[in-house]
Amino acid sequence: MTHLGDLEAWFVAGSQHLYGDVVLKQVQEHAGLIARALGDSAEIPVKIVAKPVMTDSESIRNLCLEANSSRNCIGLIAWMHTFSPARMWIAGLRSLSKPLMHLHTQFNDELPWSSIDMNFMNLNQSAHGDREFGFIGARMRLRRKIVVGFWQDSAVHAEIGAWIRAACGWHDAQKLKVARLGDNMRNVAVTEGNKVSAQINLCYSVDGYGVGDVVQRIRQVTDAEINKLTAHYDEAYAVAAALRPGGCRRESLREAARIELGLRGFLEETGAHAFTDTFEDLHGLEQLPGIAVQRLMEDGYGFGAEGDWKTAALVRAVKVMSDGLPGGASFMEDYTYHLKNGGQVLGAHMLEVCPSITGEKPTAEIHPLLIGGKADPVRLVFTAASGDAVNASLVDLGSRFRLIINRVNLIPPEHPVPKLPVARGFWTPEPNLKVAATAWISAGGAHHTVLSRALKPEHLENFAEMAGMECLLIDRNTELRAFAKELCWNDAYYHLANGF
Ligand code: MN
Repeated sequence: MTHLGDLEAWFVAGSQHLYGDVVLKQVQEHAGLIARALGDSAEIPVKIVAKPVMTDSESIRNLCLEANSSRNCIGLIAWMHTFSPARMWIAGLRSLSKPLMHLHTQFNDELPWSSIDMNFMNLNQSAHGDREFGFIGARMRLRRKIVVGFWQDSAVHAEIGAWIRAACGWHDAQKLKVARLGDNMRNVAVTEGNKVSAQINLCYSVDGYGVGDVVQRIRQVTDAEINKLTAHYDEAYAVAAALRPGGCRRESLREAARIELGLRGFLEETGAHAFTDTFEDLHGLEQLPGIAVQRLMEDGYGFGAEGDWKTAALVRAVKVMSDGLPGGASFMEDYTYHLKNGGQVLGAHMLEVCPSITGEKPTAEIHPLLIGGKADPVRLVFTAASGDAVNASLVDLGSRFRLIINRVNLIPPEHPVPKLPVARGFWTPEPNLKVAATAWISAGGAHHTVLSRALKPEHLENFAEMAGMECLLIDRNTELRAFAKELCWNDAYYHLANGF
């Protein structure tokens, strides 16, 4: 898993030579204080590195090139304490390939009413210095995040933190490998997509492997490794009687552990942090991986079932973005409905739901799968914890990718579901099932999603902006007539913006 604490965002104040050394020294000091305050904020998960005040085009360009090649820099935060003529920024910003935030703040939050003079005005002029910088961003059509507010406000820290988390997800995508074990489920449309377009636009690479490659790795797993892992299962989960030591189906649990160890080893050796499988191609595997996939997701791997590499990559991005936050995230599927009480969704999958979204101790169980013709798979069963969440889907429209986000409210089940042999969550989508499902379906949103209790729509919206990807939000403010128009306008906009 990526540790966000190892990553950095660079904080830079822009200025110019006209002010003289005394003012520039103050600008540098103030920038250092702001960088330190942001770095110390609990909302901000990476280091904030203060860079020297920029006063000319060449140093700005060098800074941007340095940011591009830095392995740990996830983005640049720029602030114009004084006036920095923005043509100086063109060469640098044209080269910058990392995400850009424009922090529009001021060092002093209060006007010093009784003492204000031209020296104060000379130093504290971000009100117009940042407008000059903003113009060049608009003129160059730069993708950027603008955050406005006092640098000590916790709400500003939260906004910066959400952007930084998105930038960490984007940083991870630059080198992400998604391993596909087998192809997509036959005849399914929405899980398909253009892998070359994904690599060009979303940066990650998607590579196919024969399931036999994993089977070979699984065969190398030793009994000692299996003993150790099954002992861990026995402790970490409420293991069903038949799967416990001496139980009649203990061998199935051992086989599940063998699959987990082999799959984990395979992913480590290929350097993939996301993967897919499909129940239609399990040659040589005894069971469809269940507990293995659930636990790999819990450790930060992205996963998509039935060959769904787009969702696998999205789950991985969400895992990185939410690192260190409570709440968890999982591959998910809108599975079945309760159409009473305004409508609720029962989300689940055949097996593969991540235990990070529950507060309860999962049970380890074994049941038939009723599909795929393999041995009964072991899986963890639990119910997702209650609270706000986001449910997001990434689809390929042929000429572009579209991210669809729905705010949902996870709720406890109205009644126990003792016969349901899979992990699940129950939620009401915002604003309600009728509007949310109409909007979702009209936008082409998939049945596969990533569900996150840790993130807000804002994180994913920032991520989409960094990728230049269309993003649609369905929440309490969604109104279907406006949503339908947004779809039409976006078709026209992206057709023009993406050109050929
Ligand atoms: Mn599915």
